[in-house]
Amino acid sequence: MAAVPSGRDPVDPVLSVVVPVFDEEAVLPMFAQRLRPVLDGLAEPYEVLVVDDGSRDASPVILQRERRTWPQLRIVRLRTNAGHQAALSAGLARARGAWVATLDADLQDPPEVVPEMLAAARAERADVVYGVRNDRSTDSVFKRLTARLYYRVMRRLLGGHVPDDAGDFRLMSRATVEAVNCLPEHHRVLRLVVPALGFPSTRVMYRREERAAGRTKYPLSRMIRLSVDSLTGFSVAPLRLATWFGLGGALVTALLLAAALVAFVSDKTVPGWTSTFAAVAAVGTVQLLCLGLLGEYVGRLYTQMQGRPAYYVAHDSLEDVVAAPARTAGEPTAPELTADLR
Ligand code: UDP
Ligand code: MG
Repeated sequence: MAAVPSGRDPVDPVLSVVVPVFDEEAVLPMFAQRLRPVLDGLAEPYEVLVVDDGSRDASPVILQRERRTWPQLRIVRLRTNAGHQAALSAGLARARGAWVATLDADLQDPPEVVPEMLAAARAERADVVYGVRNDRSTDSVFKRLTARLYYRVMRRLLGGHVPDDAGDFRLMSRATVEAVNCLPEHHRVLRLVVPALGFPSTRVMYRREERAAGRTKYPLSRMIRLSVDSLTGFSVAPLRLATWFGLGGALVTALLLAAALVAFVSDKTVPGWTSTFAAVAAVGTVQLLCLGLLGEYVGRLYTQMQGRPAYYVAHDSLEDVVAAPARTAGEPTAPELTADLR
């Protein structure tokens, strides 16, 4: 059995499945159809916590419709689109389960793997179970190449504890979730934050499927943002790059000076436009790059100092359930509905 930490409410579910959703009307009915039998089959109390990340399509309507027949479905609506990682953070902050799984709504992470993860966590007494993709053949060549580069750089900078090819499909114990919730960071990159905790972990392999419907919400600009947040959130190595550039520049300058002196002494002064131009351009580029790097860290400090929340919750369907007794007689009472959620 799951070790239910003390201090939790006895009606709290054993498993919470956190699902960030942004404009996923095309895939949500399919998603519900596939996830529900898997979780019902567990024969343990669970909740599916869908974080509607400010969807502008029919996703909220579809979710409400699903909820009518699926009492374990809980919908947390964010006021505005806060981004994948922030939506996940919102879900983790509100999930009540002794175990919390996070998976995408597009069925790229097969729901059938969740029970496997739970079994692995219990059997191996692990706090974290990473879903590791052993086959990315359904991803585009560009996505595969950039993903390989991303994980390689992250492993190099952060050390071996970053599992290769583990995205945001994972199962975490309550202790892990509480630890993540306590972190003060705003631009949390969960796929790095969780391994960095260093809690006992194991992994389950799975095949990454193709997006069941709809389009990716991760255009190149968001992928770059995630990479920059990953880098600056976990390492000051990029700042040191500036020093290396500076040293390299000094060396090149010394060589150029020597060459200039030789040319001067031997009376072979050249017009020198090309070399001057190249040197100015190179120095300018390096300076801008270093300034940009500094800017990233200063920007991070600035937003951190402002202390603005990464997301705003507009509505949590769980609160309707708790508020129910105040409504008209004849409606189901709170304990009945709360029990439903188990
Ligand atoms: N998502 C979100 N907010 C966003 C962007 C994406 O909640 O601003 C959700 C999206 O609905 C999906 C998951 O995050 O469930 C992963 O997004 P997507 O599948 O588009 O990313 P990809 O798999 O292409 O990297
Ligand atoms: Mg996807």
